[in-house]
Amino acid sequence: MNIDILCYLLRKVRYIGSEGATFFELGFHKEQAYYHNGSFMFGYHKVGTSNTMFTCHLDTVENSRVGTSKDIYLDPATNHIFANKQVLGADDGAGVALLCHMIENKVPGHYFFFAGEECGGVGSNYLADNFETLFPSLKLDRAIAFDRKGTRDVIVSQFGGTCCSDEFALALCYALGTDYQFANGSFTDTANLVDVIPECTNVSVGYYNEHSKNEYLDLAYLKKLATRVCKIDWEALPTVRKCEPEFIFEEQYLTSEEAFWYQLTEPYLL
Ligand SMILES: [Zn+2]
Repeated sequence: MNIDILCYLLRKVRYIGSEGATFFELGFHKEQAYYHNGSFMFGYHKVGTSNTMFTCHLDTVENSRVGTSKDIYLDPATNHIFANKQVLGADDGAGVALLCHMIENKVPGHYFFFAGEECGGVGSNYLADNFETLFPSLKLDRAIAFDRKGTRDVIVSQFGGTCCSDEFALALCYALGTDYQFANGSFTDTANLVDVIPECTNVSVGYYNEHSKNEYLDLAYLKKLATRVCKIDWEALPTVRKCEPEFIFEEQYLTSEEAFWYQLTEPYLL
């Protein structure tokens, strides 16, 4: 894996609003950048033919906006990278570096580098709302975010809803290695995509204590993951989950009063 790219990302202070600049500094072109009202929403890169999306986010939660760079350190005893009393930004610099590694190794896929994940998924929300307009011929079976803490998690539910089937998650756990387990996540960009892509998940990239000055990255794990993701046959993973929102009637077609009556299953005293 290209450690220079990882170190560049971790050294740079990358708060929301700086995503476009980071995307271009990684070597991507302006034709690959998508904007809304003048703001960078996401960067997109395609490799080969596939029905798989890989995602990461370019923004970080920073506890200091002073300066544009920070010192990072490697503890040789633990193989952990950390920043001195500052947010490291491995959430999600690790994911960005991993996607760059996969592109370099020509793993077929549709690569999305999102903006504003830490503010509710600004870029992924824009993509979900405009998916058919922006990518009319793109049919995706699965979306894998690399934006999860720890070293063992495959996310099966996030933002209060199921995001992938057990069959998909089990096959992915097996493909990644025997130590992986199902987990419930809070939120990442793929949570915004569950209505347009059947199987959505988030996989551990090795950071801990994110959003705090105690954040660190397990570099040994990230290197191992980088080797593994280049060998997986992503297209062979099963697609079982359907995209339809579970409560489409209540949410989209019924008024709240109508939804109240619709939900009644027992005789109701009037
Ligand atoms: Zn994140």
